[in-house]
Amino acid sequence: KVRVRFAPSPTGGLHLGGVRTVLYNYLFARHHGGDFILRIEDTDSSRFVPGAEEYIMETLRWCGMEPDESPAVGGPCGPYRQSERKEGYREYADKLVAQGNAYYAFDTPEELEEMRSVFKTAENPSPQYDHRLRMKMRNSLTMGDDEVRRLLSEGMPYVIRIKMPDNETVSFTDMIRGEVSFNTSTVDDKVLLKNDGMPTYHLAVVVDDYLMNITHAFRGEEWLPSAPVHLLLWKYLGLQESMPQWAHLPLILKPDGNGKLSKRDGDRLGFPVFAMNWTDPRTTEFTQGFRERGFLPEAFVNMLAMLGWNDGSGQEIFSMQELIERFSMDRVHKGGAKFDFEKAKWFNHEWIKQASAERLLPDVKRVMESGGITVTDDRYLETVINMVKERCTLLGDFAEQAGFFFRTPVSHDIDSIRAKWNSDKENFFAEVQGVLKDLEDWSAPAIETAFKDLAVARGIKVGELQLPFRIMLVGGKFGPAVFDIAATVGKAETLTRIASMPS
Ligand code: GLU
Repeated sequence: KVRVRFAPSPTGGLHLGGVRTVLYNYLFARHHGGDFILRIEDTDSSRFVPGAEEYIMETLRWCGMEPDESPAVGGPCGPYRQSERKEGYREYADKLVAQGNAYYAFDTPEELEEMRSVFKTAENPSPQYDHRLRMKMRNSLTMGDDEVRRLLSEGMPYVIRIKMPDNETVSFTDMIRGEVSFNTSTVDDKVLLKNDGMPTYHLAVVVDDYLMNITHAFRGEEWLPSAPVHLLLWKYLGLQESMPQWAHLPLILKPDGNGKLSKRDGDRLGFPVFAMNWTDPRTTEFTQGFRERGFLPEAFVNMLAMLGWNDGSGQEIFSMQELIERFSMDRVHKGGAKFDFEKAKWFNHEWIKQASAERLLPDVKRVMESGGITVTDDRYLETVINMVKERCTLLGDFAEQAGFFFRTPVSHDIDSIRAKWNSDKENFFAEVQGVLKDLEDWSAPAIETAFKDLAVARGIKVGELQLPFRIMLVGGKFGPAVFDIAATVGKAETLTRIASMPS
């Protein structure tokens, strides 16, 4: 059975790239009728940020990607937080040491610092703990067994490092990139178990993917350089048969294609790069999210799916259900996808246009309420939503596009009609009030006919009267057909708005 996992570290809000990784995992799992697991990779306590895990779960909920197994709902392969599995990792590290694939290293932080400066040369500008330098350091490869035993029994702090073989080629088949190989000499001896007994990501990811029966692991391209370490761990632990199939997802790039999209690009160019608003509790730094910017989750998910994938048909609008049906890893692009906020808004506009008034009601109600408008009649709001939704790109646009259906305009764009205003028009509007007041059928066509008849009788072009009428009803040069607006706001309100137009 297909089992995939999203394995974030709880270090902050979720960036677009992170949410897209979740999405591709989720789509793949659902497409194959498999399981989608959320695993929190929190073994690095120095990077732990309170609230980040809750944020991740809330994002998945908002996007409609509920995990089948997670720290919140549990499951058969728990715990789903790595910190809670701490003791379980040691036996794997011990096995590697016993086999000679890993070793104890006793170097102090000062000694490591010293190594980085002392061994710095032109051809090795940033010295690593690797095959070149490990024999110059304090570890169980350079010490006698007795000394190692003594240090361990004295409780000397140590880490366990993988012993990367010299000049071997390791390779695997990536579901997106095909065959990828590495020379092991280019990789340093990564720490597997830290001196606090916690595993690092490298050890934990292999052990957990094994214990959780993960069949496919999809992660960001930035993890590709770690692949040789993981490959060797699977091999040394004798678990190679169980190794998941990997795919490394391409980066999401800056709008100009120049490098990876960052939070700073969003700040600079004025668009969100996180799923939802996030305030870092340590720095109080705020980052805007797509949700609060006024995106529908349907649009957000659709837009993300298309950042690096398509089904080859040219279709761009997909529901989650359609994505689940069509998604396949082999149509994910190898190259990075440029992020384009205008295109993201286009998706949202399309989704708002096609959404039912019922679907939009709670969201629009929230927008109206935050604008100080209390909605008492949901049916009325639904009518309004249907009239204006095609004019709204972001949910917040409903404040302006729907507000005048609830509230007499507070200001009027008089400038746009001033030049052509004259006493004939003034008289027309004085007179039309009486005509409309006596109108029995308050429907858009009836209002339009009455309005036009009077215009014709007074020798004024109807076209010249519609804009002033709109300014009276709406306050500005926007909104749906003016007679529809009059019909919707009602007779009394229409008459009040005509009468209260400032001159
Ligand atoms: N914890 C890693 C991250 O934060 C997960 C990488 C993986 O999926 O293997 O991205």
